[in-house]
Amino acid sequence: MSYEIEKPDAEWREQLSPEEYQVLRQGGTEPAFVGEYTDTRTVGVYSCRACGAELFSSETKFDSHCGWPSYYAPLAEDRVQYLADDSFGMRRVEVRCARCGGHLGHVFEGEGYGTPTDQRYCINSISLTLKPKE
Ligand SMILES: [Zn+2]
Repeated sequence: MSYEIEKPDAEWREQLSPEEYQVLRQGGTEPAFVGEYTDTRTVGVYSCRACGAELFSSETKFDSHCGWPSYYAPLAEDRVQYLADDSFGMRRVEVRCARCGGHLGHVFEGEGYGTPTDQRYCINSISLTLKPKE
């Protein structure tokens, strides 16, 4: 798989904090309820912390009480990439940044949250940077 932004591993390590690297480049998950954007309601755009691509809008962020920032849709379908993830004995769909391949989180469907798409993009705060609207 190739991405518009590709860097040697050593460069990512240099650019990102160890925590960011672990999630974005190694598919880790930050602990629930500790991420800086879990309960954020600020109006703005969330972009990829690794490459700056704009990924999610505060307009689709909703209160899922799951412990991670949750969105019902990406900013545009071509901003993210979906991969089947069968780790931990579960069938999940991984969500990555389409520009750099950075791991963002997972998307779940049909949980009954009552959002327009019935989807929950469960995203690690540490994979995102919020740019508040001016
Ligand atoms: Zn990215």
